Amino acid sequence: MAEQKLIEQFNLRSRLRFNVDEGQIWLDENRMLLLHARSMGALRRELFDSLGAERAKGLLIRMGFASGQQDAELAKKLLGAGDTYDVFRIGPELHAFEGLVKATIVQADLDWERGSFAGEVDWRNSWEADSHLQLFGIGEDPACWTIVGYASGYVTQFFNRPVIFKETACVACGDALCHIVGKPLEAWGHDPYLDYFKPEDLQGQLDEMREEISRLRKTLCSGRTAGNLIGASSGFRSAFDLVSKAAASPITVLLLGETGVGKEMFARWLHDHGNRAEQPFVAVNCAAIPHDLIESELFGVQKGAYTGAQVSRAGRFERAHGGTLFLDEVGDLSPAAQVKLLRVLQTGEVERLGDDHTRKIDVRLVAATNVDLQQAIAAGRFRADLYYRLATYPVVIPPLRERRSDIPLLAASLVEKYEASYHKKLQGISDRAMQALMAYPWPGNVRELQNLVERGVLLAPNGGLIEIDHLFAGGAPAQAPGAEVDRDGQVGKAGDASRQQLYEAILQDGFDLEQHEARLLELAVQRAGGNLTHAAKLLGITRRQLAYRLKQGVEG
Ligand SMILES: [Zn+2]
Repeated sequence: MAEQKLIEQFNLRSRLRFNVDEGQIWLDENRMLLLHARSMGALRRELFDSLGAERAKGLLIRMGFASGQQDAELAKKLLGAGDTYDVFRIGPELHAFEGLVKATIVQADLDWERGSFAGEVDWRNSWEADSHLQLFGIGEDPACWTIVGYASGYVTQFFNRPVIFKETACVACGDALCHIVGKPLEAWGHDPYLDYFKPEDLQGQLDEMREEISRLRKTLCSGRTAGNLIGASSGFRSAFDLVSKAAASPITVLLLGETGVGKEMFARWLHDHGNRAEQPFVAVNCAAIPHDLIESELFGVQKGAYTGAQVSRAGRFERAHGGTLFLDEVGDLSPAAQVKLLRVLQTGEVERLGDDHTRKIDVRLVAATNVDLQQAIAAGRFRADLYYRLATYPVVIPPLRERRSDIPLLAASLVEKYEASYHKKLQGISDRAMQALMAYPWPGNVRELQNLVERGVLLAPNGGLIEIDHLFAGGAPAQAPGAEVDRDGQVGKAGDASRQQLYEAILQDGFDLEQHEARLLELAVQRAGGNLTHAAKLLGITRRQLAYRLKQGVEG
């Protein structure tokens, strides 16, 4: 039949407007772009190079799909209640109009009522096949990904049910023509080709890769360094002994200690030295994840569980299957998450959000907290039953100020570590700087030491020593009460500023003078080994004043 071109019939040319003054091109209501095919080719090539062929194909298909959907909306508007065959026909014409490909329908069985569809189209002059040939040469796979995505998006949108096209011959493979066939989604069965049309769960893949990397890194490091646990002080040894006794058993370990004492390192050590070392180690900081996301993070989510849950995702529990799950800051879990966690621990099964079946999991749990969970229970913020599940084997990791003798050892190993990452060779830490490290109160514990040493390594001249100024920003630090005094007085001077900060911080948190005084007295007496004269000297008061205050404290 002699058909008039629909493009002409609907006077599409008049709907294409070049608004040069405003820097816009419009096709009816859609803003269009006049791009260089070569630049699109360059972008395409970069996608293939940086993301790999599979991911690049998916992105291109979905990009084409979106523009096909746009054009279907336009076609609907043009045709109104037109002939169903025209519906299918105008898509290719629009595609040609936009300069992408010359399409000829060779077969179209379309039953509007029954919703059945079968179509075949020949393509000539595909911009994508041309571009692909230029940049990659003749290959094994068809290359017209955006165009085949367009065809699928167009028919899907118009037909209001998923229809998928696949390219079966392509100029980029050396065929004379490109050729596509289309049918409803379900008619494709379980063809892996369909995966290209689904948006990817990149975040999930990143998480998995991160876990894989930490596993690889661990395998590389294991055997020699005992996973960064370093120390010889009695406080460290007793924590370490407890942890090493628990490593081989499946017992749930609760690590207690201030922020920065290295709880994650202990957890990792436990994992590395047990019989799950080859399996994943998954760490979650419960305080770092917003309350409304923590459940989906831990337990996973089933597609459609809530608005925005477009893909199913395994939670951290599932990812840790066979290995170890480390829950840091467990005291920060929301009440709802606590209930779920308890149920998982009781049943050994997890249920994804919005899912109606459970999955068996085998996970060794290590939890950690820097808050007093007993207190949190008393305040109604933490469930007692969960606490007893978690606290079967508590291990207290002492703060760095209570294991000062480990500082030289720790600092030396950190220097070695950062020398490697900054490609430097240093002579170590100067005596004066080491003295300052020993005197410092370490509110941020090992993590703070790590930060200071990193800074020191970075700032020290290559081949030289790390000096005080390299370690501490803004000069020498405040010293800890009872620590050795720096002879040249610099430490004390700079200490005034930090002390001021300390006082301000204390006042901000709701202060109880009596309580703090009592704690300070207690600490001084402890440090002086029970010698009141010595303790009084530490506090800058007389022995009599100290004795009086202590007595008051006991009576009060
Ligand atoms: Zn092709």
